[in-house]
Amino acid sequence: MIKRWEELSRDEIGALDKDRSIVMLPLSATEQHGAHLPVGTDAIILSTLIDKIIEGEKFEKGNLIFAPQFLIGKSNEHMCFSGTLTFKAKTYYSMIYDIAGCIAHHGFKKLVLFNSHGGNTDMANLISRDLRIDFGLQVFVFDWWFTDFWADGLKGLKESGMYGVFHACELETSLMLAARPDLVDMSKAVDEDPADCFKGEGKYVTVFGPVNAGWKTNDVTKSGVIGAPTFATVEKGKKLFDYACKKLINIFSEIADINY
Ligand SMILES: [Zn+2]
Repeated sequence: MIKRWEELSRDEIGALDKDRSIVMLPLSATEQHGAHLPVGTDAIILSTLIDKIIEGEKFEKGNLIFAPQFLIGKSNEHMCFSGTLTFKAKTYYSMIYDIAGCIAHHGFKKLVLFNSHGGNTDMANLISRDLRIDFGLQVFVFDWWFTDFWADGLKGLKESGMYGVFHACELETSLMLAARPDLVDMSKAVDEDPADCFKGEGKYVTVFGPVNAGWKTNDVTKSGVIGAPTFATVEKGKKLFDYACKKLINIFSEIADINY
């Protein structure tokens, strides 16, 4: 079965077969997403995706339990724009650590840090080892910003260039047009590549590495957008959600089979 933690009763959670259950801890953000998207974009995309998985998918390998979503993450890179909320790294670490400890205390063995915000990725990877060592949990980090998760889904859909999918971009704006079109103002959408010092052929210090700079968002973009939201459509968003739901079930099935 696939359920939200907070919609189960005490006894239902107690009775779950912990050897056949995976707990997902959804990590998202509340931060500026350009002029055309709401600050809740990362949180709304993730909660919509979870709703779609719960409503439309089946999980044959046990139980998928979505713990309460963190609506705020580590977004201090965006504090130079209005509306961004962020935890400091130590606070965020402690909050994830405490909740993971509760999940382990109740007998669960597998935890997935299920992340929709690139600024959380470093924290998710860092804390995953601590949770493994301190609580004995088997911890998996699912992240779509620094992996190839969307690559297949974007094939045949992506029309923007090299920097088109990054932040408040073709991808996120399409997903928002499908999830909450009432919150998107396409008349305010602008495309922007990263600043020249972080882009370019043959350079080493770029937003894609191999050398990363500790940039804040207004070092990289004037508009707050990195990418090409003007290429976004609702049709792309619907296809991307469908793609993500199916692919995630395959990913979770593989996690169910792995024991370490
Ligand atoms: Zn985002």
